[in-house]
Amino acid sequence: MLADHVEEVRLVDHHVHGWFTEPGDRDAFEAALNEGSTGPVPPGRSGFDLPLGVALRHWCAPLLGLPRHASPDDYWEARAATPYDELVRTFVEAAGVDHWLVDTGLTPALVTDPEPRSEVLRLELLMEEVLGERDVVGAFRERLDATDAVAAKTIAAYRCGLDIDWSRPSARAVAGRARASGGRVEDPVLVAFGVHEAAARGLPLQVHTGLGDRDLDLRRADPLHLRPLLEAVDIPVLLLHCYPFHRHAGYLAQAYDHVYVDVGLAINHLGARSVELVAEAMELAPFDKQLYSSDAYGLPELHFLGAQQWRWAMGQVLGGWVRRGHWSEHDAIRVVDMVAGDNARRVYEL
Ligand SMILES: [Zn+2]
Repeated sequence: MLADHVEEVRLVDHHVHGWFTEPGDRDAFEAALNEGSTGPVPPGRSGFDLPLGVALRHWCAPLLGLPRHASPDDYWEARAATPYDELVRTFVEAAGVDHWLVDTGLTPALVTDPEPRSEVLRLELLMEEVLGERDVVGAFRERLDATDAVAAKTIAAYRCGLDIDWSRPSARAVAGRARASGGRVEDPVLVAFGVHEAAARGLPLQVHTGLGDRDLDLRRADPLHLRPLLEAVDIPVLLLHCYPFHRHAGYLAQAYDHVYVDVGLAINHLGARSVELVAEAMELAPFDKQLYSSDAYGLPELHFLGAQQWRWAMGQVLGGWVRRGHWSEHDAIRVVDMVAGDNARRVYEL
């Protein structure tokens, strides 16, 4: 039956980060519930007053032995009283994930990566590691040839926006821009170079699109800006997060054979509305090109919550279509399996 299947199916989380090595205090915890702001929660306000905060009290409280919708105070008390390694184990195991594709480039010193995992290589970080070399282009290529990562990732949206010149830069142009970069890769030439080098090696490319923290200009994170790049490369391009442009991303996945989409990150932050998010993700994108991800970072709750809300949403959306007779249960179960992990196993050759 669909309802049981969607609760039990094992997942591949194709874009995720580690959890904090330390449990942290309540202020840090509440600040981590907010994706957009990079600052602390102001006095007099609560990080729980977000869709994610309610979803946490709904789905995560029972795993700490609390009733659903336990108060923020009770939740924090139970969390703080649980040994941290036990807390991590509880939530990470409950996610039901068989394999994690970990973007190891975000604050590696502060997090512990999940297992079993494959690595996703951050191109801008790799470029920053070789900026001091005499032959930047050669050093970058050498590192890329040596990687055992199953995919590359660009955070162009954070560094320069997606509306850049995506043509392949010359080695000479790259060398010049590298000297002028001041140690941080924000130059579109350097970003485009990394992407084309990864593509030339056949590495699937993850692209951050849509929401993120306020270091990013959301206007320039619409995946529609990527059309020139999509026309120029033939490796799998995986559009990450996408919200609120997930319908644009779905269109691109239908229009281009090598484009894939997910609604990770938003699946956590939209809370109860993740049902509508998943419904909208199911509008245009071919079913064999949608992937599950949590994009969890920091709080181990998020590794579980992304999976749980995805399971709930798929059950609600597809179950509704089955009940109304639009879909057969067989088709629904098949599509659940594709998005849960089969598509990721195929694209990344896991
Ligand atoms: Zn991420």
